[in-house]
Order: sequence, then structure tokens, then C-alpha cells
Amino acid sequence: MRYCVVGCGFSGAVLARHLARKGHKVLLIDERNHLGGNCHTYRDANTGIMVHQYGPHIFHTGDRRTWDYVRQFGNFYPYVNRVKAISGGRVYTLPINLLTINQFFGQTLNPHEARQFITEKADRNIVSPRNFEEQALSMIGPELYHAFFYGYTCKQWGVKPSELPDSILKRLPVRFNYDDNYFSHPYQGIPENGYTAIIENIINIENIEIKLKTSFEDIDEDFSHVFYTGPIDRYFNFRLGRLGYRTLSFDRFEGDGDYQGTAVMNYCDEDVPYTRISEHKHFAPWEQEKFSRTVCFREFSRLAGPDDAPYYPIRLAGEKRLLNDYIALARSTRGVSFLGRLGTYRYLDMDVTITEALAACDRMDTLLSTQQELPPFFTDPV
Ligand code: FAD
Ligand code: UDP
Repeated sequence: MRYCVVGCGFSGAVLARHLARKGHKVLLIDERNHLGGNCHTYRDANTGIMVHQYGPHIFHTGDRRTWDYVRQFGNFYPYVNRVKAISGGRVYTLPINLLTINQFFGQTLNPHEARQFITEKADRNIVSPRNFEEQALSMIGPELYHAFFYGYTCKQWGVKPSELPDSILKRLPVRFNYDDNYFSHPYQGIPENGYTAIIENIINIENIEIKLKTSFEDIDEDFSHVFYTGPIDRYFNFRLGRLGYRTLSFDRFEGDGDYQGTAVMNYCDEDVPYTRISEHKHFAPWEQEKFSRTVCFREFSRLAGPDDAPYYPIRLAGEKRLLNDYIALARSTRGVSFLGRLGTYRYLDMDVTITEALAACDRMDTLLSTQQELPPFFTDPV
């Protein structure tokens, strides 16, 4: 049996390893010149600092199996993401917590008082929020929404928050204590030697042949099955149309010492053209003393064109209709399964791609042992 796995991100690496361990031959390809997919990290040539090429990546999960799995392949240092945000010329802490509320409104409220205060600001007429804006207004009221979410979200997504699903806002907690941990998961960290080293170790095993700088479209070989973690519409040569993505551009700059004193500074005002600045040495506090220089990236979001790297699936109503058409097409196509962020066109964090890939491996074992055909999707992408 020879399988092809398209994409050397976490999804592809986990699958390739599993197949190889079962004794199958695997061709693992990626059109990029590096492993790691969008989690790729490298040492910056000028400063020596570990850089997350496609934007800051913090590993966080609530799934013990995934946490144990990933730590087999390298050491993770504990890392808590504490995001700062500039709004109206002042610095605050995110996600919205008691300090944000007290600073923003010039108050000294305790948790109980803050909860009451925000409940009074929240729009009680919105019972079942239908979109991002309604969700925000019903949770935190207009002032905090406009200060922290409206401008940032318009820049990030290129549409008004009223056109976006409430699920995007639900990624962030609102806390009535001083906990400013951006994530709520129990397991959080950053790999000591970067994510690419972790992925290298996942696939450093017999039976896997790796080809970088190789597009699936250029492969002329038949396989027992193809596992495709690239964009689903691209697999079908965009024959039904293109699914929309946001892409990012990064404006690199470097200097001496410490530029902003923290890893991530969000810029929430609409008139600042970028969404955030990441200063990468702060993602590795265990080694930052080694570096006298610093390197930062301003992040600009825009609609992805045909030649841009797809970052965030947009998933507005039009895209969802098109996605459903591609799902139907995939279900009637034999010999290929779609996985991962691009293959299933969902806004997935790293841990979820690993959890889903591991679940796919479990299911694959059962199906292959009974000679059943593998399905186009191991997880429902809708
Ligand atoms: P990818 O990493 O996208 O890998 C797919 C690979 O397939 C790519 O390398 C691509 O080159 C290759 N490919 C596609 N089509 C083809 C083809 N036809 N032929 C050959 N190769 C092909 N998650 C977190 O958990 N924490 C974070 O802090 C976090 N921050 C993020 C910040 C940003 C800016 C973004 C965009 C995402 C962030 N994520 C974060 C999400 C994380 O990047 C994804 O969950 C993860 O990369 C998904 O892995 P994947 O293997 O499914 O896809
Ligand atoms: N968001 C915002 N202001 C912020 C941070 C986030 O409006 O300062 C919104 C924005 O729409 C973003 C969403 O909340 O897309 C989810 O935020 P998250 O930090 O999870 O975005 P990511 O890191 O995935 O880009």
C-alpha cells in the first residue's frame, strides 16, 4: 500500500506517522520549502530569535491525549498568552477582564459589582444573538464593543461585525476577575525549539518519503488513498468557484533591546491599518536574555487573492453554500479524504487539528482492518 499525504502541517504529519507506523509506505508532500505548515518557525538570520513565520502560535488544549501526544516530540515550556491592546491611545489588557473594565470605565469594582455593571450595559433586547455584533452588545454593551472589537474586527475580516457569525467572538472569554490568560485551556505552552522541530520529529520515522516544493497537482502517480490537507476547492481545481479566505501580510522591523515589552500588542482602532504587532523574542522568555536585538512584525489582513496563502476561512453565508457544494462533490469522489484547517475549511486551532487527525487514525484502523473504504471526511466540516 502506498499512500499520499498532501501538506506537512500538523494534520498531515500526524496522519503520515500513523500510516507509516502501520507499515504503509507514505509519500508526504508540501509545496512550500519547509515543514510545519502555518505553524512553521525558524531562527531569524539577523537576530537569532525564533520567529513564527505565519503569525504567533501558542499551543493550548483541554485534551490530555493531544497534549501528551505532542510532548513526545519535544519539550514545551509553559507559556501564558497575555495580550495587550491599544484603544483610543491607551493600553489595556485582553481578554476583557476586571482590570480592563476598571481601567476603561475608571472604576474600582469588585467581581460582583463589575458583573452587575456590565449586565446593565448589555443590551437585554437581544435574546438570541444572530451575529458577532449582537453577541457582543448582548454580552458587554456598546462601549467595550466599540473600543475593543468593532475596529479590530472590521480590519481583520474586511466586513462589519454584524455580517460575521457569533462563533468568532465566542473564541474569547469575558472575565470578572483579574485573570488575563488569553486562553482558558488547562494545558498551554510553546515548544523550546519551535513547532517545525516538533513536526520534524513526528515524521522522522521509517516508511515516510518527504518531498518539499512539490504540489499535488504535479504528482503523476496512483495511490491506494490520498489524504488531502490543502484547500478543498483547490483539490477540485476550483470548478464550483473559490472559497473566500483572509490572508495576512507582515511588515518586519528590528531594533535594539525591547520594542513593546510584550509578545502581542493589538491595535483596536480602525484608523490604525494593522491589527497587531508581535515581538517574537517574548514568545521564548527562557532564551530572550541571549538576544540584544529584537524583531517585530506588523500584521495586516486582507482578502486572499488567487496567489496568496489562505489563512482564515471566511465562512459567510455565500461561502457556506459553496462549501456544502464541495462537500457533496467530495462525498461522491473516491480515493481521497480531506482533513485539517484547509481541507475542511474551518477556523481550527493547532490542538484541534491534532485531536481530529488522531481520531481519524483511530477510525482508519477499524475501516482498513475490515477492508472498508475510507470516507471523504472523518469530521463533519459543516
Ligand atoms: P496547515 O498548517 O495550513 O498545513 C497545510 C499545508 O498544506 C501547508 O503547508 C500547504 O503549503 C500545504 N498544501 C496545501 N495545498 C497543497 C497542494 N496542493 N500541494 C502541496 N502542498 C499543499 N492555532 C493555535 O492553536 N494557536 C495559535 O496561537 C494560533 N495562531 C494562529 C495565528 C494565525 C495568524 C493563523 C493563521 C493561525 C493560527 N493558528 C493557531 C491555527 C494554526 O495555524 C492551524 O490550526 C494549523 O496550522 C492547521 O494545521 P493543518 O495541518 O491543518 O494546516
Ligand atoms: N478580536 C477583536 N479585538 C481584539 C482581538 C480579537 O475584535 O483585540 C476579534 C476578532 O474578530 C478576531 C476574533 O475576536 O478575529 C477572535 O480573536 P482571536 O484572538 O481568537 O483571533 P486569532 O488569534 O485567531 O486571529
